Amino acid sequence: MASILIVEDEPALNDLLRTELEAEGHVIRQARDGPTALRMVSEDAPQLVILDWMLPGLDGLSVCRQLRQQHLMPIIMLTARSEEVDRVLGLEVGADDYLVKPFGMRELLARTRAALRRVQLEARRAQLSPAGDETIVHGPLQVDPAAHRASIGGTELALTPKEFELLLLFAANPGRAFNREFLIERIWGEAYEGFDRAVDNHIRRLRGKLGDFGEKITTVWGLGYRFIP
Ligand code: CA
Repeated sequence: MASILIVEDEPALNDLLRTELEAEGHVIRQARDGPTALRMVSEDAPQLVILDWMLPGLDGLSVCRQLRQQHLMPIIMLTARSEEVDRVLGLEVGADDYLVKPFGMRELLARTRAALRRVQLEARRAQLSPAGDETIVHGPLQVDPAAHRASIGGTELALTPKEFELLLLFAANPGRAFNREFLIERIWGEAYEGFDRAVDNHIRRLRGKLGDFGEKITTVWGLGYRFIP
């Protein structure tokens, strides 16, 4: 699970958040004011920060702005005010999400899970991306990430952006099987839940455009797809 820093000056709420998040298996540290939070992050950066807006000493907005100068971890802001200006300001200083007090613990846990899931996805994305912008070659297939172009036997392929992303993912990870859920997250983002058919349709069109070479994208029964050059 994740390391989480809770920054909240109300002791009861801080402890309640700690209890709930520990029950999810997270490792929790607590701060009750902005300067302490900044020091704790600089000593050992957590994977997520839950940050109250109204804090003594240094308010949550300033803390968020300062954290963002050096850190990319998700920040969920807590605010007692629901005005639109709060929301806009929070997102402007780099918060990823915000919750208006009073909020339910289930809501907080759901937002936390979503934020951590995005981080994991980004990490996997970075891992699976080709190292650098070098053209990937598999036999007659050439995929040029920098120019967003692909060709077979020197003939450029007319691919949609999503087809190109799929082909690049396969070409950069030969032999690796990808399930549909992963491909949906990777190519369409989280908002595209439940669209298994879209993946199948895109793969079918991509195979068609690759001609005979398209057979090298094989179906992994019950799982998804794999590219075997
Ligand atoms: Ca407060």
